[in-house]
Amino acid sequence: MMTKDIKGDFPILKNGLIFLDNSATTQKPTKVIKAVKEYYEQDNANVHRGIYKLAQKSTVLYEKAHEVVANFIGAEFEEIIFTKGTTEGLNLLAYSLGKNLNAGDEIVLSEMEHHSNIVPWQQIAKEKGAVLKFIPITKEYRLDMEKAAELITEKTKIVSIVHMSNVLGTINPVKEIAELAHEVGAVMIVDAAQSVPHLPVNVKESNCDFLVFSGHKMCAPTGIGVLYGRKELLKEMQPFLYGGDMIKEVTFEQSTWNELPWKFEAGTPNLAGAAGLLAAVEYLQEIGMNNVEAHGKKLMKYALEKLSVIPEVTVIGPAEVENRGPIISLNIEGMHPHDLSEMLDRENIAVRGGFHCAMPLFSKLGLDGSIRASFYIYNSKEDADRLVNAVMKAVEQAKKEEGVINRAEITPGDLTEEQELYKENVIDHYKHPRNKKEIEDYTAKYREVNPICGDTVTMYVKNNNGTIEEISFTGSGCAISQASASLLTENLKGKDIEEAKKFNQQEVFALLGIPISHTRTKCALLPLKTLHHALEEM
Ligand code: PLP
Repeated sequence: MMTKDIKGDFPILKNGLIFLDNSATTQKPTKVIKAVKEYYEQDNANVHRGIYKLAQKSTVLYEKAHEVVANFIGAEFEEIIFTKGTTEGLNLLAYSLGKNLNAGDEIVLSEMEHHSNIVPWQQIAKEKGAVLKFIPITKEYRLDMEKAAELITEKTKIVSIVHMSNVLGTINPVKEIAELAHEVGAVMIVDAAQSVPHLPVNVKESNCDFLVFSGHKMCAPTGIGVLYGRKELLKEMQPFLYGGDMIKEVTFEQSTWNELPWKFEAGTPNLAGAAGLLAAVEYLQEIGMNNVEAHGKKLMKYALEKLSVIPEVTVIGPAEVENRGPIISLNIEGMHPHDLSEMLDRENIAVRGGFHCAMPLFSKLGLDGSIRASFYIYNSKEDADRLVNAVMKAVEQAKKEEGVINRAEITPGDLTEEQELYKENVIDHYKHPRNKKEIEDYTAKYREVNPICGDTVTMYVKNNNGTIEEISFTGSGCAISQASASLLTENLKGKDIEEAKKFNQQEVFALLGIPISHTRTKCALLPLKTLHHALEEM
């Protein structure tokens, strides 16, 4: 019931789109779209500067956004810093807290972190000689809390953990981990990018020192996010960016910092984004975060039950629905996630396929990615049914076609007779790839990854007096990238190296001979890009 009314609030969903990529970003309700429009039509002026009425109106609105967000997560006004999003919040923390790290200090993360909660710490660790430790995950896709207790020691200075995994849906016991961190005097950071949109979160109850999230994953515009920090800690911390609003006084020699939270908000902020975030938080509060949580849980449980009876489907995440969010990653036997997501797209179901910005987790699990369906407030049981039915259809297809993507899915639109022939050829190259092997006495070898879908290609080339004597590839990927590698290697064997260096994108598309959708362009061109890198190394 709730979803029917709610769906109507989202203009983009009016054309029947089943949007299940909510962990990447959510759609925006009319209230938020209107708030941004009205900001520009009625309130636009810079904040904390002008004395005139419009500037004051804008300032009041901007400060109100901080107040409403503070209230939303149980924080105080001074503790709410607006950022671009979760990634910026984590970078700010890595930079500012990282200043106090010494060689040998330890930073504890987990194996289920998003790249945004790994890469900034890797950089700081490198700079300072600090050491990263990762809490492992169990077979049930939960954090191994015994190992967590062993890993968090007197050497630990920072613990930074995701609250709800954007791949597994696992909700981690951040309060318990915060206790472990505080016992040894470390600070506790929570990456709440997925939890704040889905659950009631109270920073004081969770006992964390810092918590970060993004507005765009909870109905607000992109480019606005939140960093919560305990006041005492923020007061001591060095700013991340300098200039503009974060200044109290400047002389030619030195500067002093503004009070909280502005000390951490340098330059002109995203004012319209803040107006949108304010509207989004009010919108979610009108629904009630308990209802948001209950709705997500109901859909997740329903979809998991239906998927569990399809033997070819593997869900990558806890089977137990307690402490689990409405994010379902899955694979089906014999079909690459990228091909599966394109199949679902043909049914107007938007899911994500690939590594979901968590490559280390997938490499630990030994998987080439997954598709991910994530539900939000506007999704309904019918949406879950549509997903399950489309997945079942794909399973049937995979069986019938020996794991090959449906002929109709490999390329968009109606095809000419000639293109139909090319399509058969592409499918044949995917099913029976030519030159898919390692060459031992290669002259050059190069490996490339497409970070979007996770396709990997390694190219091997053997040079014989300027001629390509042998060329081969290995790797894994979707139908298009694999067929493209097979066709490319077949075409270039025996050709001049110089000729191969000049082989261009249009020529790859000509080899494939079928229309390639925009989303598949990177897949089609990955082998060529890899080959060019290999040839550069010669
Ligand atoms: N952390 C988690 C758990 C996420 O799911 C995401 C986004 O998918 C991020 C961090 C990064 O968020 P953003 O891209 O909004 O900075």
